[in-house]
Formats: sequence, structure tokens, C-alpha cells
Amino acid sequence: MSREENNNNQNNENTQQKKLATYTLGCKVNQYETQALIEMFEEAGYASVSIDEGADVFIINTCTVTSMSDRKSRQMIRKARKLNPMAVVAVTGCYAQLSPEEVKKIKGVQVIAGTSQRHRLLDAVEAVLPMQESPVVLVESHQKGETFEPLSVKKTKEMTRAYVKIQDGCNQFCSYCIIPYARGSIRSRDKREVIEEVERLVKHGYQEVVLTGIHLASYGKEKKNSHELIDVLESIDKVDGLKRLRLGSLEPTLMQINFVERLMKLTTLCQHFHLSLQSGCNKTLKAMNRKYTTEDYEIAVNLIRQVAPTAAITTDIIVGFPGETDEDFNHTLAFAQKIGFADVHVFRYSAREGTPAALYEAQVAEEEKNKRSKSLNTAVDTMKAQYLAQFIGQETDVLIEKVSSLDNHFMEGHTRHYVRVLVPFEKKLLQHEVKVRITEVVKDYCKSILL
Ligand code: SF4
Repeated sequence: MSREENNNNQNNENTQQKKLATYTLGCKVNQYETQALIEMFEEAGYASVSIDEGADVFIINTCTVTSMSDRKSRQMIRKARKLNPMAVVAVTGCYAQLSPEEVKKIKGVQVIAGTSQRHRLLDAVEAVLPMQESPVVLVESHQKGETFEPLSVKKTKEMTRAYVKIQDGCNQFCSYCIIPYARGSIRSRDKREVIEEVERLVKHGYQEVVLTGIHLASYGKEKKNSHELIDVLESIDKVDGLKRLRLGSLEPTLMQINFVERLMKLTTLCQHFHLSLQSGCNKTLKAMNRKYTTEDYEIAVNLIRQVAPTAAITTDIIVGFPGETDEDFNHTLAFAQKIGFADVHVFRYSAREGTPAALYEAQVAEEEKNKRSKSLNTAVDTMKAQYLAQFIGQETDVLIEKVSSLDNHFMEGHTRHYVRVLVPFEKKLLQHEVKVRITEVVKDYCKSILL
């Protein structure tokens, strides 16, 4: 059957609902944006299906943070085309924004939208002509002063936790990062819209909201007299029915005394702070163009711990950055141990074409990066175990999210400190916050008894 005949048949069978499948690469912001697109298509009558179910439209939301992300993005586009040669394939996200010419070369792509024109994606997909060869390209260069892209969600894939995007873009230009080029300069979502979205999500049964953005600490900074992040947090805290407010990745420089004082008064705030570190060596931080020192970082952590001594402090660290010597790495290792993180995502530096650091001399050998990554991860395992051990014998609240994927005799959820806890199985606990006592630590989670 030709594609034309196929389309005609579909038009004749009005009862047949069109199917949309999505695939998301990359970060929580991308996941949020995919969800917003799913809802946009559902409102237009599409049914959302999994990628293997033979959809009529595929949306691939791409990532470009490393060369590997680019490759995976291309693989998924080709996979979608292969799964249904009759389907419309639309490509969006950071890779599409930065490299539309490369995406165009992939046979069978019909719509390309970058990181600012997704509100036009549905119309473009609907307007695609059968057998159309050249794609519709909705990629516009990011402009200074552009506004927050109008996307919103009512639900998420998880049952209790919903992500809310409140900020886009980044002006930091860390020397290893391509994101400011893919996302443009900072812009913030209107406070009223944020609150309305949180209220909607709570009405739909979500009890926990996680705020995300490309550089959350920049919220409100692009405009004079606009709302600051703390104003938005205080308003979210007042939303009726919201139990937990969690923050995405933050810069340590945000943790100034006034901010922390106001932050710690929020009753829904989770005691979990992901403070981006990247390196525990000042020389490396400077080469990365990060705007703080290890001393600033430590002050930020101490400010939090003065009010919330058991708060989970988590972070990201890159090992093997160009020019990082053994001694520099040892500074990072020692600094991480000094802070005593609850968890660390360890990344091996990967040169990203188009960034200054990719051109730095003294690139570190892969073997050395692996060695450093292993050594840091071993230290992280010890830190994690120590962090979790302090809760043994303690009472805490767990928001039950699902039947445990580790052992179906247990339910599973997180505490406000983002500790993963197993609770003896009782189906009726699902989506409820329950009181438990932690009894033991097993690997990177805790077991508990109900109180
Ligand atoms: S803060 Fe640095 S690492 Fe984060 S998105 Fe901006 S440039 Fe990239």
C-alpha cells in the first residue's frame, strides 16, 4: 500500500485514532517538554503509545550535551523511521537546534523544530504532505530578550512526583558545555503560570513537585523587577494540597544567607539540595569557567547544614578535565570526602566539539579518566553508606510511589531527604505518605517497618 492510499484509508475510517509515540534523550527539562508535546497532541485527538506500537507520528526529543548524545539522537530517529516507514517523523530538542543540517540529511525526517518553536510542531506535523521529501524546519536562532516558550503539562509519567519547568537558557558558558548555544540566554516562566501549573498538578493528584530548568539559579535574573526564585518558592509552598517541593540542580552561589533563611522556612521543602560542584580543585574550576571556589561551596553547604544538619547534599563531578593532574584530582577527592555527599554523579570528561575546553591542550588519557572515576566512585559508595546509616532507628515519612522494582514483597518510595525506602507490601499505601522506622541499609536504599 502506498503512503497516499494509507492516508486515504485513515481518513475514511474516522473512528481510527491517530497514534503518537515519543522518545526523549537527555535531561529532565527535555522530559518535561516531551510531556507538554504529548498533551498538546492528545488534546488534538491523538493517542499516546509506546515507540514499538507502530505510531502514525514519532517525536524524537534530542540531546546534544556530548557527541554520544548526538549519535544516540540520530540512532533513535532512524529507528523511528524503520518502525513505521509511513509515519511522520518530527525531531526536536537541543541536537535539532544546533545541527538542523545534520538532521536534514537523515532520510525520512519531515519536521525539525529546535528549542523555541515547539508550539508550532502540531500544526507542522498535521500539514505534512504524503511522501514529502524535504523537511519543514522550525529552527530559529535564539535571540536576546526572547520569552519563555509557552508549554505546559497536566500530568507526568510518575504517580506522585511531577516536574515543572520554570526556567530555560544559560548565560554561564562553562568551558566544557554546549548548552548555552543550544538553549540560548536565560528566560524565566511567569510566576503566575508556574503557580497555576502546580495547582493543576496537585488537583490531578500529584503530591510532590520538582522544579527544573537549564540553570535554575538564574530564575528571574534577566529582567529587573521580576520575581526572584525565592518569591516563586514561597508562593508554591502555599499551594493547597502540595506535600513536597523539591528543587532541581542549583549553583552554590545561590545559597546566600537571606535566600537560605527564607528557603528553610518553607514547610513543603524537601531536605535535598543538588549543588553543582564539577570539581573540588580551584585551578580546575577556573579552567571550567565556573564562577565559585571550593571555599564558596563549603560556605553554601555549611549555611544549609546550620539549619538542616541531615539534609542530603548531592552533586555532579567531572573527572579528567583537560589539565587536571593527579594532584588536582586528589584535591577533588579530598574535598568531596570533606563535604560528605549523600550522592555524587561522576562523569568522565568528554570533549564536546564547539566548546573552548575541547581545544585545550593537555587532554587527559581515557585510561586515566577511568582510574579517577573508579577511585571517586569508591569514595562515593562509602559516603552514601555513611549518609544512609545515620537514619537507622529513625522515624521518617515516606511517600509511596510504586510496588518495589527490587522485591515485590515491598512498596517503595522516598523520604524528604530523597532516601529510597522499602516498606512492607500493602497495596493501599500507594500514593500515601506513611510513617516508618528505618531498620537497615541495603546497598543504596533503606528497609523499614510501618509505624
Ligand atoms: S551552568 Fe554551565 S554546565 Fe550548566 S548549562 Fe550552563 S554552561 Fe552548561
